[in-house]
Amino acid sequence: MSEPRTLTDLAIFGGKPVAGEKLHVGRPNIGNRDRLLERINDILDRRWLTNFGAYVQEFEQRVAEIVGVRHCIATCNGAVALEIAIRALDLRGEVIVPAFTFVATAHALQWQQITPVFADIDPVTHLLDPASVERMITPRTTGILGVHLWGNACAIEALDAIASRHRLKLIFDAAHAFGCSHQGRLIGGFGEAEVFSFHATKFVNTLEGGAIVTNNDDLARKIRLMKNFGFSGYDNVVHLGTNGKMDEFSAAMGLTSLEAMDHFVEANQRNYHQYVAELAGLPGVHVLGHAAGERCNYQYVVLEIDPETCAISRDDLMNLLWSENILARRYFHPGCHRMEPYRSLFPDAGKHLPQTERVAARVLVLPTGETLGAREVHNICEVIRLGVEHGGKITAQLKASR
Ligand SMILES: *Cc1c(COP(=O)(O)O)cnc(C)c1O
Repeated sequence: MSEPRTLTDLAIFGGKPVAGEKLHVGRPNIGNRDRLLERINDILDRRWLTNFGAYVQEFEQRVAEIVGVRHCIATCNGAVALEIAIRALDLRGEVIVPAFTFVATAHALQWQQITPVFADIDPVTHLLDPASVERMITPRTTGILGVHLWGNACAIEALDAIASRHRLKLIFDAAHAFGCSHQGRLIGGFGEAEVFSFHATKFVNTLEGGAIVTNNDDLARKIRLMKNFGFSGYDNVVHLGTNGKMDEFSAAMGLTSLEAMDHFVEANQRNYHQYVAELAGLPGVHVLGHAAGERCNYQYVVLEIDPETCAISRDDLMNLLWSENILARRYFHPGCHRMEPYRSLFPDAGKHLPQTERVAARVLVLPTGETLGAREVHNICEVIRLGVEHGGKITAQLKASR
């Protein structure tokens, strides 16, 4: 017999994993399946699969209406949307980004020979710290790429003031923030442009997909050319471009997903409040908050595990949860600056990023979404509670079995 490694082995839950089925972070929300299939049948009947299809146009209109922006350009994914937005704005040299984000934010710059310069974050909100941004500005800086992490708006006004003072362009990676507001206005209309991701794991999804939203007519026109090889009508290429188009199936999924988005928020919000209530008072366990009075999609339930006061380490807690089929994730560990190619290019970047390093060592994102009910959330909280209570024992057993 091997050493017991988990609560399951300790038979606290009767020797079976707490979650029968694996509970993933970012398990897709689907919406009304019949509506989706109707749309897909319609697409097949009409044999119009991509290139200015009716569903993509409708999806773009709906997103623009919901967000309250003049233009929405749907794309094949969020990463390509970021690349196109960055290129359409003619960013070059250096652009300041947080290191505490999904690596695509930095890659979208580096991919086109623009240097991502990593700035630090606020330790409480995990959002870009304007003071750190200002310190990283050099004569080569051309822009700031803020990230509305976890659906919370970054310090838009402060970043805007810095951008104006230094004549920099300001854009936002709003991949987490569809349906979230800042000072009562939905995210999407800030800066020169904002970029959404509609990846399967995001709040509203188009399978793969994304969008650039902007109120700038000239910029929108340029982006429309760039996402379709620079074509302006048949046989007429007027700009350098790529293929960033969204297809009709994706738009069908997106429209179906938009119709259900209030239901997704309800489920996420209910789960969030249950997590907060059930984890309250656990020493060293903190659930990240959202700005009061703002709309939020509650797509991310973010725990912070304080190594000083919690009886179990973040990583041991994660391993314990995984052994119970609860696939919690260490987003965004270890920070972009510790991933390639940035780790090799900027080996000293961490020196300027103490809060990023600290937060990246503490975070753990929990499952939520329309497929999670009160029972699942309760069981997840129970494993966390037992993990904290038995912390020393579990840590010792994990160590012994390594
Ligand atoms: C998901 C995500 C992206 C990339 O979007 P894709 O649609 O997956 O290409 C970019 N930035 C952040 C912060 C993300 O979470």
